[in-house]
Amino acid sequence: MIKAKKSLGQNFLTDQNILEKIIQVTNIEKKLILEIGPGTGNLTSFILKNNPKKVFLIEKDENLTSIIKNKFKEQVTIINDDVLNIDEKKIFKEKLIVFGNLPYNISTEILCKWILNLDDNNFWFDCLILMFQKEVADRIISNFNSAKYGRLAVLTQWKLNVKKICDIKPNSFYPKPKVDSSLLFFKPKKDYYNFKDPKNLETVTRIFFNQRRKMLKKPFNQLFNGKTEIANKLEIDLNLRPQNLSPDIYFQITKEYEKL
Ligand code: SAM
Repeated sequence: MIKAKKSLGQNFLTDQNILEKIIQVTNIEKKLILEIGPGTGNLTSFILKNNPKKVFLIEKDENLTSIIKNKFKEQVTIINDDVLNIDEKKIFKEKLIVFGNLPYNISTEILCKWILNLDDNNFWFDCLILMFQKEVADRIISNFNSAKYGRLAVLTQWKLNVKKICDIKPNSFYPKPKVDSSLLFFKPKKDYYNFKDPKNLETVTRIFFNQRRKMLKKPFNQLFNGKTEIANKLEIDLNLRPQNLSPDIYFQITKEYEKL
């Protein structure tokens, strides 16, 4: 039995029913596939059974990389690197279907990197099928006016449509994680706001949600140096709180911020 490294978030999915369910989310026959963190190859085996055109794997752990190489040989192309260092747009010239039972310590970092690096109208992926810890997944899919709603939901909903496929209990993994997990399915949106710099959306949401219990007056003043006409133009009631504004309003605020 392989000793799992906690530092690399290694909880291997062993439940055959869940593995089957993940693979059934979308048709992968003759499609290009990228799997993030294949680990011991449990999900990779299921992917290969479904006749994909080609399978790329990105795995940081050297030991697991050589195990996977021996197991799947020329059936897969392995990149032994940190996914956070990879420029997917440069490497992959055709759209991929991406699978990942993500290492939980960097799952939001991976998702945010992908969203911020997406080229306008030229996504390098067709869809994402990703596992997160349930608490994080709930934040990603949350709607405004709910306690979980925040930066992650706004950023995700800027470029992606997202839906939950299912929740998964700890005993589907080895070693068992302490928390429940959720599988999410993401598809790129066709229409979305274009910003001069996507980092501005991050700045705006950071300023608002870092003060999530405060009324909107305070972050609004901070962002627009007291110019209340912008709030009037966007018909925003400054007595509300950050969680009460829809993603669309945050996109409009960012547009106004970029005009300053
Ligand atoms: N896919 C396998 C499964 O479901 O059984 C393993 C999933 S495990 C939760 C996460 C995997 O991501 C591990 O194999 C780990 O070594 C790998 N990993 C961790 N950090 C990584 C990183 N920064 N870049 C690439 N892979 C990473």
